[in-house]
Amino acid sequence: MKLLKSNILNKTSINIVWFKRDLRFTDHEPLYYAQQQELPLLLVYFFEPSVMSYDDSDVRHWRFVYESLQEMQSKLANINSKIYIFHNEARLVFEELTKHFSIQTIFSHEEIGNKVTYSRDIDIQLFCKANMIQWKEFQMNGVIRRIKSRHMWEERWEKRMTESPKIVNEDGWNILKLDANIYNSLKGEKLSSAITTRNKNFQQGGEYWAWRYMDGFLKERYVNYSKHISKPSLSRKGCSRLSPYLTYGNISMRMVYQFTRQHYNNAENKKALSNFISRLHWHCHFMQKFEDECRMEFENVNRAYDRLIKPKNEFFINAWQEGKTGVPIVDACMRCVVASGYINFRMRAMVVSFFVFNLWQDWRELHFLARQFLDYEPGIHYPQLQMQSGVTGINTIRIYNPIKNSEEHDAEGIFIKQWLPELKNIPANLIHEPWKLSSMEQQLYNCEIGKDYPSPIVDIESTRKHASDIVWSYRKNNAVKEEGNRIINKHVSNPKSQ
Ligand SMILES: Cc1cc2nc3c(=O)[nH]c(=O)nc-3n(C[C@H](O)[C@H](O)[C@H](O)COP(=O)(O)OP(=O)(O)OC[C@H]3O[C@@H](n4cnc5c(N)ncnc54)[C@H](O)[C@@H]3O)c2cc1C
Repeated sequence: MKLLKSNILNKTSINIVWFKRDLRFTDHEPLYYAQQQELPLLLVYFFEPSVMSYDDSDVRHWRFVYESLQEMQSKLANINSKIYIFHNEARLVFEELTKHFSIQTIFSHEEIGNKVTYSRDIDIQLFCKANMIQWKEFQMNGVIRRIKSRHMWEERWEKRMTESPKIVNEDGWNILKLDANIYNSLKGEKLSSAITTRNKNFQQGGEYWAWRYMDGFLKERYVNYSKHISKPSLSRKGCSRLSPYLTYGNISMRMVYQFTRQHYNNAENKKALSNFISRLHWHCHFMQKFEDECRMEFENVNRAYDRLIKPKNEFFINAWQEGKTGVPIVDACMRCVVASGYINFRMRAMVVSFFVFNLWQDWRELHFLARQFLDYEPGIHYPQLQMQSGVTGINTIRIYNPIKNSEEHDAEGIFIKQWLPELKNIPANLIHEPWKLSSMEQQLYNCEIGKDYPSPIVDIESTRKHASDIVWSYRKNNAVKEEGNRIINKHVSNPKSQ
């Protein structure tokens, strides 16, 4: 039937590999299987205006994508080929391409994205159906589409991670060159220089960097993993820093897992590597939750929390975003993540806790954080936000004490001083609660509270108590418990363990 279509219209039959959040050549299933077919292959990537203008999107994400693509292009240049990059909507480009080619199959990974990419994929599915194009989507890491239950999910994860990686045949390319006129008419506007210019404050995108981070971690840095994971400064070196590379698929989860396993037996600190491996499971576990219940982007996963209304306070939100709440560890984290795209897990949890409990704001106002995290992964981000905000009804409610965390994890105030230079003269023992400085000390350390650095915008203890009373009273509510049971049955591999 398809052959007939191409013969009648005299169009060349082609296949397409659509790169999405999988910007690599190593262990790339769509590419691997596409290569096994004989048809010429068109490689495409879309910078889609609709996705780029969504609330969660930031130029830092697209710069990372651009850098990843540049590295891929430089490899392809050796064989005089390239990925055709469009700054345009996928649907529009596919539609135009069908005027020139008979597209047989589109190969891609499944995407666990946001509402816009989900709607786009539904639209592309309809388009493919109408045009008799087969769209072969391959599983993304350990996340299984359309699973009926989480029973045996861990076992399936393990099996998937131990399968042989799909290594493309470097000599077996049959890459299509697109006519320049067609490409020029479709490629869309030039990307902004903010996207195409390197910014050294952020990790650099690309397969090379993914492997370099992983190699450095497994050879050396992992030793302090468990010890430094919660420290805002030391975690920058002690953790793997693989998250943006996993988010944009510069490396597959399977390769990370297998490479780590290779190092395990001879590792000097096996406990650290076991902790790291658990987090690789978590990565897919959270994404699986989101895949199974993607309304989590907008709605409380536990519907019984819909009655919990938090009045929006713009002043609080702005102060938090700008790192001007008057609580040094919170402000340092916020300024750091804005400037570098990264803070470690505990600090992420702590700034969210401050926002949703002490400032009593709704987690749905947190798109700002999605924009700041270079590793923003909707499938991890939203379930984490909900868990940290205490609206799941099943997880332990943690209201982080920022002072205690500051004293424990930045005892010398090194991180605080790096990001809040106005506090640089304050001694370590006083830096965690600068509002307690006497006026003489303020003069001595050249920092007037309320002028050079804000007084705290809320009282930490009374706001903690207020939040705690309310969220714990909700936990006793029957509707919360019922929804909690539903959530456990749906998202937990072994519900009886909860
Ligand atoms: C509110 C909040 C939002 C978050 N949003 C994201 C996000 O958008 N993208 C993201 O990748 N991570 C997110 N995390 C999880 C975690 O903070 C980061 O994965 C981690 O800090 C990344 O640093 P790393 O690569 O050095 O991690 P490592 O500690 O070296 O861990 C290795 C990998 O395991 C995964 N991982 C680690 N911790 C977690 C976790 N708690 N949950 C799920 N996966 C984990 C990540 O893929 C990470 O790259 C969020 C956490 C919180 C509390």
